[in-house]
Amino acid sequence: MNFVPQLERWLPDMVALLEESVNMDSPSTDKALTDRMIGWYAARCSEALQARVERVPNRQYGDRLAVRVGNGPRQVLLVGHADTVWPAGEAKLRPFRIDGDRAFGPGVYDMKASLIQALFALKLLQMTNRLPQQLSIVLLINSDEEIGSPTSRQWIESYARKSEAAFVLEPPMEPHGAVKTARKGSGRFLLSLEGRSAHAGVNPEAGVSAVEEMARQIIRLHAWSEPSRGIYVNVGVVNGGIGANVIADRATAEIDVRVQTMDDFRHFATRMNHLTPFHPEVRMSMTGDMNRPPMERTRQIGRLFEIARAAAWDQLNMGLGETSTGGVSDGNFIAACGTPTLDGLGVRGDGAHSPSEYIWLTELPRRAALLAGILERL
Ligand SMILES: [Zn+2]
Repeated sequence: MNFVPQLERWLPDMVALLEESVNMDSPSTDKALTDRMIGWYAARCSEALQARVERVPNRQYGDRLAVRVGNGPRQVLLVGHADTVWPAGEAKLRPFRIDGDRAFGPGVYDMKASLIQALFALKLLQMTNRLPQQLSIVLLINSDEEIGSPTSRQWIESYARKSEAAFVLEPPMEPHGAVKTARKGSGRFLLSLEGRSAHAGVNPEAGVSAVEEMARQIIRLHAWSEPSRGIYVNVGVVNGGIGANVIADRATAEIDVRVQTMDDFRHFATRMNHLTPFHPEVRMSMTGDMNRPPMERTRQIGRLFEIARAAAWDQLNMGLGETSTGGVSDGNFIAACGTPTLDGLGVRGDGAHSPSEYIWLTELPRRAALLAGILERL
C-alpha cells in the first residue's frame, strides 16, 4: 500500500504542528523551556495516537518521553530529541516561515520536523492497520542531545538493549537523502600545562614555557591523525600566557578526536591519557574521554538498510543510498549496545545548527511514508 497520498493530504496538519513547535524555543540547557516542549509533544502524541505516553522526570535538564505504540513482543526504537542549539528568544527573532517549498526557523531541520514526521508515520500505520502485530514501537524523545545526552544516555541504552532495531531521526545526508549506516566515534579532552613564569628580558632562563610545550604537544597530537584510517585529532581551542614579555606558566587546549573503529576508540582512550611532557619540569593534566563509540556497519545494519531500500522503492519509487559520517549522534551509543541502528531517517533539508537551516516541505510526507514503509516491513 502506498502511504504517500494520505500523508500528502495531511501535509497542512503537519505544517501547522511544525509551526507551533518551531515557535517554541527549547534550548538544551533551559529546563523550563524544554519541559514545556516535552509537554507539548506528550499532548500531541496522546491526541494523534493510541499510545502509552510516559513522561520521565529529569532533575537537571528537560524531561523525557517514551511513546509506545503497539504491544507486540518485538521492540523497535525511534529516537529523537526535543532540544535545539538555539537560545531562548530565538523563535521571536526569526519565527517559523515558509518560502516556496522550504520552511525555516530555529530547529526546524534539527529536528522538530523529524518528530512531526515520525508522529504522522505512526498515526498512519495505526489508522491503516499496517503496524505488524508482533511489534511494539517506542518513540524516545530526550532533551539533552545537543549537549551530548549526559542525563539521557543510560535511559536510551536501557531501551536499546531490549530492542531488535533502532531508527534515529537525525537528518539524512544530502544531496540525495542517503541514510547513515556508519558513524565515527568521538572524544573530547582538555589538556592543561603548567610551567614556570619568568621575565622574558631579565631572567628568561629561570622560566619554563607552557606555551612552547603546548606548541610541541599540538604538533605531536596532530601527527596522530591518520586520514586513511578515518582518525582525526584536532586541537581546536588554545589558551595560554599573560603577556609577550612573560614566559608563560600556563596553557590549555581543547581537543577533539574522531575514530572509525572500536579498536581505535579504545586505543585513543589510553593514548590520550598517557601523554607525557617533552620538558621534564612541565606538569601536565588531561581530562575528558572518548565518549561516543563509533557506529560500525555490521551485517545486521546492512540488513536494516536493505529493508529501508526496499521501502524506498515501494513508497517513493526511488533508490536509497547509504553513507558514513564523521558526525556523532545518539545512534553511536545505541549501536554500541549491539542494537542494529539505521540513522538519518529524519527530514530532508540543510543547514543544521545555522540560522539558514531549512526543510523541504514536499519531502515531509515522503519521508514519513518511507519511515512507515520500513516499520511495516519489520
Ligand atoms: Zn539533532
